[in-house]
Amino acid sequence: MKESYWQQKTKIKKFPALDHDIETDVLIIGGGLTGLMCAYFLKDSQYHITLVEGDEIGSHSSSHMTGKISYFQPSVLKNIKQSFSELTALRYFKSNLEAYISLVEIIEKNNIQCDFSVNPHYFYSVDKPQDLKTVYDMLEGSISTMEFTTNQIKMFPLGTFDPVKYMKGIVETLDNVNIYEHTKVLNHTKIQHKHVLKTGQHRITAKYVVVATRYPIFNFPSMYFLKMHQVRSALFLTPQRDRRIVLCEDDDIYSRRNIDHYNLHVTNERLVGDKEKPLRVYDKIQTWHNQDCISHDGLPMIGYYDKGDCTMFVATGYNKWGITMSHVAGKLISELILNKESEYQDLYEPHRFKPITSASAFSRLALRTMKAEIVDRIVLKKVDIENMDNHSGTVTDLDDTMVAVYKENGHYYGFVPVCSHLGCILKYNSAEHTFECPCHGSRFDYTGKVLDGPAIESIESTIVTSEDDNNEKEL
Ligand SMILES: Cc1cc2nc3c(=O)[nH]c(=O)nc-3n(C[C@H](O)[C@H](O)[C@H](O)COP(=O)(O)OP(=O)(O)OC[C@H]3O[C@@H](n4cnc5c(N)ncnc54)[C@H](O)[C@@H]3O)c2cc1C
Repeated sequence: MKESYWQQKTKIKKFPALDHDIETDVLIIGGGLTGLMCAYFLKDSQYHITLVEGDEIGSHSSSHMTGKISYFQPSVLKNIKQSFSELTALRYFKSNLEAYISLVEIIEKNNIQCDFSVNPHYFYSVDKPQDLKTVYDMLEGSISTMEFTTNQIKMFPLGTFDPVKYMKGIVETLDNVNIYEHTKVLNHTKIQHKHVLKTGQHRITAKYVVVATRYPIFNFPSMYFLKMHQVRSALFLTPQRDRRIVLCEDDDIYSRRNIDHYNLHVTNERLVGDKEKPLRVYDKIQTWHNQDCISHDGLPMIGYYDKGDCTMFVATGYNKWGITMSHVAGKLISELILNKESEYQDLYEPHRFKPITSASAFSRLALRTMKAEIVDRIVLKKVDIENMDNHSGTVTDLDDTMVAVYKENGHYYGFVPVCSHLGCILKYNSAEHTFECPCHGSRFDYTGKVLDGPAIESIESTIVTSEDDNNEKEL
């Protein structure tokens, strides 16, 4: 995964891989902001806490984000009001506001040097200013420092920080948590009231399991893949031209903040698996990408992973607001483990069902899945492999076999382009040189290695040959 600016500036402490079977009270799977905040809120409890991370701590979405800390999220509030009610949207707002306040206290209490600063954020809309006005009207009276003008809301105080420095600081507080990196959980079973998880070579037995993998990795029975989709955006740095922190609330999103002497811009949002538009910026200094889970009804899902099992937890569908939401998740899940109840348990209930929103989102998802599973299998265009450019890839039909092919320095790499999650046909993304699942958003590199879930397993690379090899024609 391409490093972000934040990762280049700061390195988080390294941890060993798991090399023996273990038993623990609470197992947290995933070492992004969510996993770390769950560990933070549980670290002083009576329980023995273990956190396993498939890659390195904080190496995925949490280190590739913009770093805006916002309890005010106009389009999310509007969606929640539409799907549920004004009261639900106001409760969501309140839980984010409390998370913001508590997060600032954590930074101060632990003296976390994460370049936290308080600033006004400007939310604007060209296409739908009336949506901003609706949200403004809903909150007017509760926040005196919010200003509305024609097509813009100025909100103060909100914050920004360096997310990697923040995670580094949180990790340094987790002395009594056992952390393992490069330890990927591959499957889960329950044996006599205990969770048993396999990590390839080793077994972890736990009383409680928190799935903090951003996209939930276990498919059944709860089928989170029917309740959300994944979007991906490009982030890039340019020399600083404007210090204002802005967010365009239109469908074609745009976000900007400043870091050091640069502006950090976010643009080009697309569903994972859709083609990326070319990024035409003449003075960009560095580019990376990030993706997140979008829940169909606007509310994140935090709570019991499966209905009826109060020993396994999930936190997902943050709609690109993971800083406050991972805080809410850490607090809510730790309270469910320690006290068996939490103030916002019903608000974020993962097993709620909204027939109308869920049905329309589900039909769109079903169409994409059908296309990726059926149409793309039948209508694959044939590509002249021999004349492929270097550093390019494709999904093609080769002697009646479907193959993902990538050419790198004269070598051809190939694998069967069927997603290891639920079997959709992968698509090639030329902007990032990756193969992506258009149904649920998993991503693979050109060797078939999984980069982003929900897929857990890599796809075995079946063909590796070179232009110079005699057997080149076999491709
Ligand atoms: C373009 C963009 C900009 C954003 N900017 C902001 C912002 O400014 N402010 C904000 O609040 N939010 C922002 N977000 C949202 C934020 O990035 C995410 O919501 C947040 O990082 C999610 O945190 P997480 O811990 O759940 O996921 P992650 O950080 O992805 O962590 C999940 C971890 O689980 C691990 N894992 C996965 N599978 C396994 C397995 N089988 N075994 C072990 N480990 C596993 C992964 O390796 C990963 O490290 C942005 C999102 C996008 C797309």
